Parts: sequence; structure tokens; C-alpha cells
Amino acid sequence: MTNTEEIKKRLIEERKALLAKLSGNDLSIDNSETPDPVDLAARNYSKNLTLAVSENESRQLKYIEEALQRIEEGEYGLCLNCGKPIQPKRLEVIPWARYCLKCQELVEQGLIEEQ
Ligand SMILES: [Zn+2]
Repeated sequence: MTNTEEIKKRLIEERKALLAKLSGNDLSIDNSETPDPVDLAARNYSKNLTLAVSENESRQLKYIEEALQRIEEGEYGLCLNCGKPIQPKRLEVIPWARYCLKCQELVEQGLIEEQ
């Protein structure tokens, strides 16, 4: 049996870390210097990279919020697709997992629609 309190703590910690990371992302570009085309391209590249990272982190943040919500509702650890309990080992590694292993595979193969 998975200890929900323990998981909740981990989720809250994880959320805190993510929020800190997201708010630390400075997307503004310093225009005070004369733009050098090469330099500018490099900056745009790293800006896009930062945006992509933020997108992943925002999604993870959303999953964490959902997991916390499900803990409150007493529905934590149930697969969103088939409703069966997610393997405790899987939850240990990914406390915000939304699907059991089987359904996760189906999601990745595009066989079921991600909710
Ligand atoms: Zn499932």
C-alpha cells in the first residue's frame, strides 16, 4: 500500500521546485547592446529552448496539481483511462502518473486520447 501522505509531501515539494524554476525563467532579451546577427540568432535559439523547457515543466506542474486534487478526492493512484489502480512501483517513480503502464503505452502510441 502506498503511503498517500508521503506522496503528497513529495508532490508538494516537486511543485515548489517547479514553480521556482518557472518563475526564474527570464525570457526578456537584453537589447542594450548593438545586435550582432550571429549573437541574435544564438539568443533566439536559447530563448526557444527555454520556452520548450517551460512547456514541459508547465505540463508537469499541471499533472502534479491534478494528482494533489485526486489525493483530496480519494481517487489518487487510479488510471484515468481504465480506472484500475496504477502500479505502486510506478507511482514511486512518477508520483504524478495519470495512467497505468498499459494505458500509458496506448497513449504514447496514440491509441487512446490523452485526457
Ligand atoms: Zn489503465
